[in-house]
This record gives sequence, structure tokens and C-alpha cells, in this order.
Amino acid sequence: MSEEQFQLLRGAGFVAAVTLALLLQRLSPHASVRGSWRVNGALWLVNLIVTGFVCGACACTVARWAAGAGFGALRAVAVPRWLAIATTLVTLDVVSYGWHRANHRLPFLWRFHQVHHSDQTFTASTGVRFHPGELLLSLPVRLGAVALIGAAVEAVVVFEVVFTVANLLEHSDIDLPLRLERAIGRVCVTPALHRRHHTKRGPDRDRNFGTIFSTWDRLFATYVANDSATAIETGLPGFDDLTFPRALGLPLGPTVV
Ligand SMILES: [Zn+2]
Ligand SMILES: [Zn+2]
Repeated sequence: MSEEQFQLLRGAGFVAAVTLALLLQRLSPHASVRGSWRVNGALWLVNLIVTGFVCGACACTVARWAAGAGFGALRAVAVPRWLAIATTLVTLDVVSYGWHRANHRLPFLWRFHQVHHSDQTFTASTGVRFHPGELLLSLPVRLGAVALIGAAVEAVVVFEVVFTVANLLEHSDIDLPLRLERAIGRVCVTPALHRRHHTKRGPDRDRNFGTIFSTWDRLFATYVANDSATAIETGLPGFDDLTFPRALGLPLGPTVV
């Protein structure tokens, strides 16, 4: 697979995820709030330019390098293709869990990650509200993981698409039927679970760090239940209605503990 095909597949996954998230928000809204789409959209555009410039298809390049060099854990054992893809998906998701947790634990990383949490509305566009600094800092972690796993390019694409869909859906203003929500939440992160992570006050911000699977939060004792019937005030105290320039400059200012 070429780097262009990799970018194309990832882009198609993003468009499909946005479409599905917006559709579900329309069909089954939780709070019917108007998202901070101006600031979030501007950040998304900056990130598209910055990450595209620095490392548009780096994960693909690293995966191809690892394949050529025979590098990575999955090359040391003979596993079927489907198992290699599943292992890559699960491993990159647990790495993302650890990275997200580090973003809350380490003050330097939190300076950037608080931009994501400063959205006082919780809608699909919150899923693209990241400071470019956070995305750049995460690159070595994810690329290092791809190399160490010895992930195939196709497995990285599967991960990127599933991760994008999960990320956009769990940030969406969606209510799910409670029984379905409970069933999905046993394995995957639901919007209600992640909404609780975005709570404006209290210790629950240090809970529910997962993106695809809720398994890691259960395993590492950071899981806290939540359902669509519960209203959660989201955002960060004192950071309401941030403009785009203020959001961009947030890592340089005071932090919310
Ligand atoms: Zn967080
Ligand atoms: Zn989030």
C-alpha cells in the first residue's frame, strides 16, 4: 500500500465517522447543545496542516520500514493475518490509553491536553479539538509502538479508521437506549462514559481514559460507570467560551488542576 492510498483510506474513514456522528446526534441527541464548532474546526484545520506537513503518513512509512527491516514483535512469531491485525488494534489502543493517562498525570502534557477538555459543549466536533502540540508530542509514542509491534500497514489503517470512528462517536451528543448502552459499554467506550471523563468539576476527569475499548479502564481501575440518563456539566472551570487564539495559547497560561 502506498502512502497516498494510506492517506486516502484514512480520509475516507474520517468522512464516514463525521457523517455517522452527525446523523446519530440528529436522530438521538443527549443535550441538543450547539457545539463549539468554530474553535474546534479551526483547530482541526491547523492540525491538518501541521501534522500533514510534519508527518502526513508517517505511520505508514514506519510500518513499511519495519516490514522491510524485519523489525517488531509480530515478526518474531508466525501468526495468521487476522490475529496480527487484531493484536495491532488492541496494542495501539492500550498505548493510547497510557498516553491519555500520562496527559492527565504530567503537568507539561496537561498544558496541551486541557485545550481538549476546555470545550464546554460536548459534541462530535470536540473529537477534533486538540492542540497541535499534543498531536506532535504523541507522534513518537504512536510511531514507536507501530515499530515495536512490527505492525503491517493494513493493520495500522484498520486501527486508524476504528480509532477515528470511536473517537468521534464517543464525543458525540448522543443518547443510547440504556440496555444497548450497558451492553456496548462492557467492551467499548460509549459517549456517556467519555462524557463523564469531560466533567467540569471533580475527580472523574481522571477516569475513563479509553478510546476504543473500555477494557483498559476496568483492568487498571480507572473505570467509572455513566449512562445517557445522567446529565454532566462538561468543560474546565474558568475556561468558558475560549476563542481560537486563546485556545492556541492555552499551554502558555495558567492551568486548571
Ligand atoms: Zn482527557
Ligand atoms: Zn475527549
